[in-house]
Amino acid sequence: MRKAVAAVMPAPDQPVELREYPLPELADGEALLRVDYSEVCGTDVHLHRGRLAGVPYPLIPGHVTAGTLAAVRGDLRDVYGVPLREGDVVTFLDVHRTCHQCWYCLVAKASTRCPSRKVYGITYGAADGLCGGWASHVHLLAGTRVIRLENATPRDFLLGGCSLPTGLHALDRAQVQIGESVLVLGIGPVGLSCIALARAAGAALVLAIGGPANRVAAASAMGADAVLDLTVMSADQRAEWVRERTGGRGADVVIEATGVPDAVVQAMRCARDAGRVVVVGQYTDHGEVAFNPHLDLNKKHLDVRGCWGSDYSHFHRAVQVAGHERLGAPWRSLPVREFRLADAGQALAAVANGEVVKALLRP
Ligand SMILES: [Zn+2]
Ligand SMILES: [Zn+2]
Repeated sequence: MRKAVAAVMPAPDQPVELREYPLPELADGEALLRVDYSEVCGTDVHLHRGRLAGVPYPLIPGHVTAGTLAAVRGDLRDVYGVPLREGDVVTFLDVHRTCHQCWYCLVAKASTRCPSRKVYGITYGAADGLCGGWASHVHLLAGTRVIRLENATPRDFLLGGCSLPTGLHALDRAQVQIGESVLVLGIGPVGLSCIALARAAGAALVLAIGGPANRVAAASAMGADAVLDLTVMSADQRAEWVRERTGGRGADVVIEATGVPDAVVQAMRCARDAGRVVVVGQYTDHGEVAFNPHLDLNKKHLDVRGCWGSDYSHFHRAVQVAGHERLGAPWRSLPVREFRLADAGQALAAVANGEVVKALLRP
């Protein structure tokens, strides 16, 4: 019998190990994906440290993945109604079982807060089957939204990876107007994607603050007009650096993509009066932070918006961006390191200590 191989997190803080699994029997409406590329992202670092709630270890990580359909059972169609076939090069929305029946789905129209949603590689564990991308194969369960890559290769798409739909959602929340100024705090993959997307959205000025130093050049290559190394100035000096470049007012829009609670307050203080702040970096609970409600929020007439997860629309548009010659070019400039499945633990360490800008897994 043919087997699949997967890199597994047995439990938090345990070494990643290779395990074999039988290839699944496909039920009607299911498919088997042969993985071409998956990625190692900040979420995987949080998963390895046990910092996310509701994760069923042992886990096959890898929530954003692209590859080739190795088998299709029954009538599977994409969003255009076109049947999916063996040999199609695809990705899929990592969120499954969004119900389209609950209050959040139907009344709030906030499907990323649907209580039924399950995420491949995060809240589906190895006990659920081959449901993560750090593997030779992924079992695409019935109802999974599969998207043909069209003009993007699997590698092109994974250069953005999960940061691209996440960044698109953050830009939606930011509602950048043509000609505005945008400050991005944090230059990990999500911050880097937000820089390129802010530029594409028509920002006249894109500023970035972050580190480590090996990412500063990447932030410039993604389209930032000026990048400040986080470590060379105090928080007050950084806010002054922003005001000097924005007519003394602060940025029209600030996108926080750091994961550090203090950065949310910094974002509020770097925004102009009556500006917008989008918080997309606080994916895990790193505790509380203090701010002055009068000075930082009310008197500033500030609009502060959270941004959780992605939905199908963000994945769909991420495929269009990755496959577009001009729009997708910034991600193709990113320095990338590729790892084999057996070296997933090394890849995880390289992402955790910031020595790589982008780490791809190639089974
Ligand atoms: Zn729902
Ligand atoms: Zn991710």
